Formats: sequence, structure tokens, C-alpha cells
Amino acid sequence: MEVGRAGLYAYSEAELDRAEGEAIESLKVHCQQAIPDPDKWLEEEVQRNILLTSVDFMLNWARRSSLWPVVCFPACCAFEFITTAASRFDISRFGMEIIRASPRQADLMITAGTLTWKMAPQVKRIYDQMAEPKWVIAMGSCAISGGIFAASYSVVPGYNRIIPVDVYVPGCPPRPEALLYGIRMLHNKISRRSITEGW
Ligand code: SF4
Repeated sequence: MEVGRAGLYAYSEAELDRAEGEAIESLKVHCQQAIPDPDKWLEEEVQRNILLTSVDFMLNWARRSSLWPVVCFPACCAFEFITTAASRFDISRFGMEIIRASPRQADLMITAGTLTWKMAPQVKRIYDQMAEPKWVIAMGSCAISGGIFAASYSVVPGYNRIIPVDVYVPGCPPRPEALLYGIRMLHNKISRRSITEGW
């Protein structure tokens, strides 16, 4: 130690270095001990085959990975849906390539096209017969608001007038990339569901 001009004691640089080195060495010694394994009491075979997660996560993962669309393609947007389903864009990677002809085997309605009031009761009946839980993607301007036919006496100004819609995909027609984006948005929505929802 040295005596400063004011008569106070101050550490020399060498002593500061030594003190700092001791602190670091002490910390290193105490941090070298093995971190205890909380699963040590489990047998190795069990450790490799158990996955812990929540019921909500498992159900939502299964549901969003196997959405089955029902046939509901009344107008020109249908061709963009067909392109989305075909090999270039390929919705089979989401587990939804089989388009169901029966509403009882489907849980997703992609409303690709203009809906007239004459057809509306049939579309509503198809929706009502789909199994719960079920979802709807309104694809294209006509599905969202009636589009260019909105002022017509015969066109429904949006599917949400007759059935609940989860995701809206705008465009006339929307490109397959837009529909894929809408499908991913629906996946995100399904991921946030809880098993207690609707009880
Ligand atoms: S949004 Fe355009 S492409 Fe789609 S059904 Fe209506 S008019 Fe046809």
C-alpha cells in the first residue's frame, strides 16, 4: 500500500491486480462443479422416450397439421386454390391435400368464389354439417365483400353474412402465395386455442 498526498492509504496497481486475480480464481473454482442433472433418477431408456408438453399444444399441433378442406369453390378464385393445391405450391406439406367431398370429414372451408343468394343456403348447410372445431378462410374480394358484384341484387356481400370467417385473404383473385399466407395465419390462430375454449 502507498500513502497518497492527502495522507490516505491507496492500493498499488500490483495489489489491485492480485486482488482481482484472486477473486476470479475463486469464482472459477466454485463454478467448475458439475451442474446436477434433474433427470438422473430416470433410467436412460425412459429419458430418451419421454416428451413433456401440454395437452393444448398437442391438440393444436395435430389440428393445424391436418386441416381437411371441404369442397366450396363456386367461382373463378377456385383456380387459384387448385394451383395452390397442385405440385408447384403444394398444400400437402401442411397435411391438407385431400379435398373432402363430405362436410363430415372436413374442418376447413376455403370459400373461393362469388356466392349468390340462391347458393347461400347450400353453403350454410355444408358449414353446419362440418365437424367441430371448424374454420373458414374467405378467399378473394367476392368472398370478403361481394367484390365487383357487391352492388348486385343476387350476390352475398361477404360470406361472413351467413357463416363466421376466421381469416380474410384479399385479392381478385389472390395469388397462391397469398392463400398460403392466409393458411399460415390460420395455423397461428389454431395454435392459440385452449382445450377449455367454448366450455
Ligand atoms: S375475387 Fe375475382 S377472381 Fe375471385 S371469384 Fe371474385 S371475381 Fe373471381
